[in-house]
Formats: sequence, structure tokens, C-alpha cells
Amino acid sequence: MLFRFRALVALTSLATIGGCSSPGTANVRNTSRTFTTVVVDAGHGGRDGGATRRYGPPEKVATLDVALRLNRKLRESQFRTVMTRSSDVFIPLDERVAIGNHQKNSIFVSVHFNDSGRRGVRGFETYYSTPYARSLAERIQRKLLTMNGSANRGVRTAGFRVLRNAVHPSVLIECGFLSNRGDANRVASSSYREILADKISEAIVEERYGPGVYNAPPRAPDVTPAPEDTVPSPPAATP
Ligand SMILES: [Zn+2]
Repeated sequence: MLFRFRALVALTSLATIGGCSSPGTANVRNTSRTFTTVVVDAGHGGRDGGATRRYGPPEKVATLDVALRLNRKLRESQFRTVMTRSSDVFIPLDERVAIGNHQKNSIFVSVHFNDSGRRGVRGFETYYSTPYARSLAERIQRKLLTMNGSANRGVRTAGFRVLRNAVHPSVLIECGFLSNRGDANRVASSSYREILADKISEAIVEERYGPGVYNAPPRAPDVTPAPEDTVPSPPAATP
């Protein structure tokens, strides 16, 4: 989750009403059909743990794990990849954007988990900024919804800074709510996180090369967390 961005979303909405700003294509290169590089962005890290209302693992841990899996799968699919972080370090948002903007013929994929004060809220959300990224966002969302127990919270536009300032098509995936017991329990399972990465990877490969090209793993691991695979998940202490 991106707390600091809630204000930005509100500002963007107001600006849109005023006709000053809307998701556009002005400064964006449309690499959505040509990209050879994928910038993989694991949300948060270091002193920024991410979601605070959670049952499952820290958001920064879960995002890095899924991003590392995604990175490996994309490399196996012959993409060049760049990770904004590959360990538990804090990377400022503008630096993440700069890393992405530096990569020619690329797309930017940011991995997050969500949280909400309403514990019942669960499911996937995929965000995009430029219309060039809409198709990819929709494809990722469709693939995620093929997972057991998935819930659809929609494909949305937002003024997240990592999306707004990107010069390439960029998406931000909220891979479930750590504040929801069911979502969080699934995220605590490594086999579930492997499938998450696989679905995102499949969507990216299909967006570039068409359906049926992606070589899925021989067998998708069981979605049900094995007891030894599940991180104990007491509710996070609230201040
Ligand atoms: Zn986040």
C-alpha cells in the first residue's frame, strides 16, 4: 500500500475535474508492443515496511519475494530485467522512477500488497497511468483472477508517483490485502507467491508475444498453504 499516495490520488482527481490533468500520453513512449526490458519494482523496503494493518508477512518482505520470483521468470522468458531493489533497502520513489526511465524500450511493473481499515476488504487491484499501459493492466488483472479464492477490485487509474512520472508504460499491482485474514494467509505461503509471480509473468509475456507463448511451470504448486509453509500470522500490534 502507498499511504503517501492517497493524497496524490485526491489531488489528481481534483485536477482532472478542473481539466488540468488527466492520464495522458504526452511524455510517454509507447513501448507496450515492443518492450524487451521489464523493470521490476518491489514496493517499499528498508525503513519503509509498507502496509501496517496486516496479518501476514511485512509488505516489504512479500513484495521483494514476489518481485524476485517475477524477475527470474521473466529472465527465463528471455526478457532483460532490471530490479529497483533486490534486497531489503530503502529506495526513494523518484529514484525508482529514474531507474525505469533510464531503460530503453521497457515497461515498469511495481509489486505491492494492500491494507485497509476494513478487515473484510480483499482482492486484487491493478493500476496504470497512461492509456498505453491499460491493456497490460487489464491482462494482469485477468490472469490474477484465475487464481483460487481471488476477488476482483478492478483495474484503475491513479496518480501514483511511480506511474505518473514514468516515461514508459507502467503498472502497479496490489496483490491482495494483508489486512484481510484470508488474503494474508495466502500471501504467507511461498507456493501462493510463486503462482502470483507466474500469473504476472504470463500476462507480461502474452502482452508482448501473444497468448499461448508462455511456458508455465510443469505444475502449479498447491494454492492451499501447507502448515510448515505458513508464517504464523498474529495481528500486527497497533500503536
Ligand atoms: Zn505498498
